[in-house]
Amino acid sequence: MPTESKSLTKLPSILVVGGAGYIGSHMVAYLRRAGFIPVILDNLSTGHQDAILDEKLVIGDITDAAFLDQIFASHHFAAVMHFASVIQVEESVKAPQKYYHNNVMGTLHLLNAMLKWKVNRFIFSSSAAVYGEPLYTPIDENHPVLPLNPYGHSKRMIEQMLEDYAHAYGLQFFSLRYFNAAGADPAGKLAERHEPETHLIPLVLRAAQDKTSITVFGRDYPTVDGTCVRDYIHVLDLCEAHLLALKTLIGGKQGGIYNLGTGQGYSVQQVIEIASCVTQRSISVLEGARRLGDPAILIADPKRAMRKLNWKPHYTELKKMIEDAWAMIRKPISP
Ligand code: UDP
Repeated sequence: MPTESKSLTKLPSILVVGGAGYIGSHMVAYLRRAGFIPVILDNLSTGHQDAILDEKLVIGDITDAAFLDQIFASHHFAAVMHFASVIQVEESVKAPQKYYHNNVMGTLHLLNAMLKWKVNRFIFSSSAAVYGEPLYTPIDENHPVLPLNPYGHSKRMIEQMLEDYAHAYGLQFFSLRYFNAAGADPAGKLAERHEPETHLIPLVLRAAQDKTSITVFGRDYPTVDGTCVRDYIHVLDLCEAHLLALKTLIGGKQGGIYNLGTGQGYSVQQVIEIASCVTQRSISVLEGARRLGDPAILIADPKRAMRKLNWKPHYTELKKMIEDAWAMIRKPISP
């Protein structure tokens, strides 16, 4: 049986699956500010209850079809935004079952509940991981899709389901392929935090805060300084793109598959240097081996999304992303 913090009511609203997580909770606040009524569905496996202000939270799991049926029976959703997935590449290689169960099967249940209850607008958090090792850079959406691990496979399988459901049942969807989400809403409550944390920026800031070290995974890549280059995109720019995608679907226009990045790359070394400058602390660096499956350079070509959604990332400077992330880490936690 699902438990929830407030009573269920019939409201035209947006179901935000994974709305207690890093990107999902930012989206919830963004939707609220844009005049939508977000309802959060989260199993709190990696999400945080304290990331939720006064939105309705329904606690439960998308792999439970009966639970989903109950949620859809008691609401009228204008659309579903889906941020809930397990995301650790290395773990996905060792435990693929978890990835196909949570990501693929969970999403299938979600789509089937939508089908049954005639909710046909869906916005999905996909990933640059669907491209695998880049054949060229920047990566546009025509780049071959060759995921290298079960995590990437799970994202691509879901995209395939979306395309097939669109064709057969008229599902209207956006699949947004994120590059590296970063930063935080300075006005919000949630910093980027995963347990265990594996992402570079939170780990670098943790090293600055706790006077520990960051390990650089490889300095022998064919890049500007030998360290890997990534396209970091501010979480608020991601939210803006989702909002525009939602409005596009509500306006009756077609969705599709789009990259979300800034089109600009920063190396691991540059991230550390900028973090050191932002935090005004020297950051101790250890040299490590390459991490399995890390491409040297991952940079998006985001032009298709920019054209389609009339969207433009506003916070393209990595310094701003790190400043916002750092401000959240330093912010005292309010009750
Ligand atoms: N990285 C690193 N040390 C760490 C964590 C990450 O050198 O402790 C590197 C990683 O090899 C990659 C980049 O930082 O090149 C970004 O990694 P992250 O896990 O943040 O995102 P990913 O690109 O894997 O989605």
